[in-house]
Amino acid sequence: MKVTSHNFLILFFFFLVLFLTAPPSTSASTNHIVLPKEFAELSVTNQLEIYIDKNSNISNDEILSNRENFLPLQEANVSGDLSDVTYWIKLPLVNSATFDREVLLELKKPHLSSVELYSVKNDALHLEETIGYRYPFKVRMIEHRNMVFPLQLLPEQTEIFYLKIKTDSFFQAPISIWEPIAFASANYTAQTFFGLFYGIMIAMIIYNSFLFLSLKEKTYLYYILFIVGFTVLQFIWDGFAFQWLWGDFPWFALRSNSFFIIWSSLFSLQFANHFLQLKNCAPILHKLTNVFIVTSSLLLAMPFILSIKTATMISMLVASLFIILIIAIALKVRLYTREAKFFIIAWSLLLIGVILNLLAGYKLIPLTPLSLYAPKIGALVVVLVLSLGLADRIKRITLEKEQESRKYYIQTLLQSSFNQLAKVNTWDSLVKCALESLISMTKYEKGFYLTYENERWELITKTDEQITINQPISIHEKFLEKTLTIKDIDPTIFGIQSKSQSFFSIPILTAQHTGMFVIYSEEKNELPTFEANIIIPTFTEQLTLLINNLFNYQSLKESAMYDHLTRVCNRKYFMEEATEILSQTAKSNHPSSLLLIDIDHFKRVNDTYGHTVGDQALTFVAQKISTVCNEKGIVGRFGGEEFIVILPNTTYTQASLIANKLIEAHHFHPFILNSGKPLWLTISIGVCSNQQKNLSLQEMIQYADEALYQAKEKGRDQVVLYS
Ligand code: GH3
Ligand code: MG
Ligand code: MG
Repeated sequence: MKVTSHNFLILFFFFLVLFLTAPPSTSASTNHIVLPKEFAELSVTNQLEIYIDKNSNISNDEILSNRENFLPLQEANVSGDLSDVTYWIKLPLVNSATFDREVLLELKKPHLSSVELYSVKNDALHLEETIGYRYPFKVRMIEHRNMVFPLQLLPEQTEIFYLKIKTDSFFQAPISIWEPIAFASANYTAQTFFGLFYGIMIAMIIYNSFLFLSLKEKTYLYYILFIVGFTVLQFIWDGFAFQWLWGDFPWFALRSNSFFIIWSSLFSLQFANHFLQLKNCAPILHKLTNVFIVTSSLLLAMPFILSIKTATMISMLVASLFIILIIAIALKVRLYTREAKFFIIAWSLLLIGVILNLLAGYKLIPLTPLSLYAPKIGALVVVLVLSLGLADRIKRITLEKEQESRKYYIQTLLQSSFNQLAKVNTWDSLVKCALESLISMTKYEKGFYLTYENERWELITKTDEQITINQPISIHEKFLEKTLTIKDIDPTIFGIQSKSQSFFSIPILTAQHTGMFVIYSEEKNELPTFEANIIIPTFTEQLTLLINNLFNYQSLKESAMYDHLTRVCNRKYFMEEATEILSQTAKSNHPSSLLLIDIDHFKRVNDTYGHTVGDQALTFVAQKISTVCNEKGIVGRFGGEEFIVILPNTTYTQASLIANKLIEAHHFHPFILNSGKPLWLTISIGVCSNQQKNLSLQEMIQYADEALYQAKEKGRDQVVLYS
């Protein structure tokens, strides 16, 4: 490869740099090229003289007679001309050695259509060899990727050679004369580099193909198609494609360059489109790119339909549009995303490579192997960096997908855990279940729940036996503001003894309730942030709702069951419970007893102290009855100032004892009025038992009422057993 290697990128930037820097001064042409006695490579490009036969109609004999019409190569305007032109190059070689020598002439542009080498014998042009893309590769005397001709030189003599060149693309003629052994040695070094370059490219193609097969991700396919095209293009530019791939097919060889330029541009942009997700971040560029992709897909057929020159023009146009689009995309995406960074770095490094190569070409920096091969190294870097970027993107997509399914899993888990919790109707089991599901969801091992009641924190439930909460726990108000982690506070504040590595405190605040979940783990199994962000807020929100529901449910239930004034069972609920008790005891053949209690002369209390005090006195009596009877039976308000008690598994004797205990309780404990004075209340009680006879609840009430009536008759403040 030589610095003047003509890939389209180089051309583009070549013109760019031309505008920015002054063209280098050309060395004066000499008529004769003197070959020193000893040399390795002699670059003769600057000493060449050229004659441009614009219409390709000058005969070989006329060339010899037209010698003075040859111009130094730099003065002739040859670039950018695609018309049907024949270029004649004159090489007057002077052998300064005193012996016969064979040298090699290397034309370093591998894909010229036709190159004829002429020597001058007896004042006439003598055709030595014809090679080029129009002829099969194997006709070459020296089978080399570039055009190489052996030249025989006589001692101390000048011999003039002519090269007659026809090209279907742009003309360039970088020419060197080589000493054959030096040529072999230089080739050896170059082959090693090329081997390395193509080895890596092929490895990248294979590696990414495997990734595509396993991941089935379209971006990989476009990337592979891009690097395949890009590698083949390099292969063409280096002359290897003609040497190894289609040397027997000149027809295809002449068209391959245009075809693969369009191919590489097309898939490179298709790749950029998907890789950078232009659809989302640059909709206009996305549309333009799509138009480009569709158009260039159609243009892929052009090299095989139109003339080679037209195809070359089209491919140059496609390449220029490609470069404009790539620059526009780079300017648009900048370094906003990770993909954009990889993209910009990749193409910038290729640009740097091309610029280094150009600077070396202009002798602004030394021509070292690095600057010589910089564009190739740049190409390698593009492929490598984009591959890394792609792997990086796939990794993130996979991670996102994993997170997505984990998210779904957690939501299902949360849902089922709340379905469970919704069935719980006692406060303690709700908190216990919630703690367990929180622990299982977060995979933390231990935890407990604290409530704040009566101005102190209390431990409600715990999964860690070792946890001992020292009273009073001082929990700062700030702890109730948000969920805290081990980064925010030291868990030992909560009395956690073990060395916990992971920790969460989750406040639960509702209108009726203040509490806090504390969960922790001795292992450093930090909950991923995205999981914590789903679990904790959802958990807090749902649990708050459940707690509120439970409170509402309980107060609703209570008002349906209990008398709002005295807090004993209301009549309806009592009747249900008592019926249930009677049927249970009847099954087990155990006796039950019923007390009917009436406050004596209660009307007087109301009349003397008013209804409010009457209410308080009523509550006082109800509490007394509850204290004595609650463990043995159920107390209810039967109506007005009458109470009813059902005592399961209780005989007449036992019931009478309890009834008397109630009478006595009123003898010893008066109701204290607001003034502080005692008000001695008495009660009368009628007792009925089903000890001897199986009775219904209604019958028992009726008989107890009769007994109560008798107690009143007998002077009140006493117990009467129904007999
Ligand atoms: P006895 O010893 O014969 O039972 O006399 P008594 O005054 O208690 O009997 P009576 O049944 O005539 O009066 C019951 C009174 O209880 C009438 C009513 O004003 C009062 N009372 C009933 N329910 C309530 C209540 O909810 N609050 C108050 N303050 N008084 C009530
Ligand atoms: Mg009464
Ligand atoms: Mg009464």
